[in-house]
Amino acid sequence: MSRAVVALGANLGDRGSTLRAAAEAISALPGVRPVASSREVESVAVTLDGPDTSKPRYRNAVVVVDTELEPQELLDALHGIEDDHGRTREVRWGDRTLDLDLVAYDDRSIDTATLTVPHPRAGERAFVLAPWLDADPDAVLPGAGPVTDLLAVVGDDTERVDEPRLFDEPARASRPATAPDGRTGAAS
Ligand code: ADP
Ligand code: MG
Repeated sequence: MSRAVVALGANLGDRGSTLRAAAEAISALPGVRPVASSREVESVAVTLDGPDTSKPRYRNAVVVVDTELEPQELLDALHGIEDDHGRTREVRWGDRTLDLDLVAYDDRSIDTATLTVPHPRAGERAFVLAPWLDADPDAVLPGAGPVTDLLAVVGDDTERVDEPRLFDEPARASRPATAPDGRTGAAS
């Protein structure tokens, strides 16, 4: 069993409903068990040209899961869920109904044509770090350090949305009190 961190983002459609449905779909994948989830944050769209206030704002969240799927299998499944939510791929970093990124998979380093883990930009993105820290206060980005430290460097420019966590409380309560390495909460 491995532990995976997935970042969710949406800036088109009913963003909150989409994030919730996507979190449920991820949890329901064969070989996946929900561990923890964040509340939602909102932030300005970032395009290849930088922040763009003329674009619809993003909602982002993070889910932590345990999984028997290999990293590429998990990414393929995430792409299936993106497709189910009408994701199209015209412009890199363009507007989207749903974006699912594999942020981390245990402490593995992967670099193939289709998958880079840890996600190369996760450590610079407050909209990933802030919800990840919300889901797991002990989160560590492999190769980079504690998420709380990374977020302090980047600066948290996200706004917390006043909604519950993406998973129901029972799933959150089922988090192991102690991770295999002895740290509390979700390992990363
Ligand atoms: P972006 O998120 O950069 O706007 P996409 O979501 O369309 O763009 O992803 C582009 C490609 O990035 C995907 O087809 C996928 O193969 C690749 N990719 C590489 N590493 C990752 C990762 N860790 N998580 C998600 N996608 C990844
Ligand atoms: Mg993506």
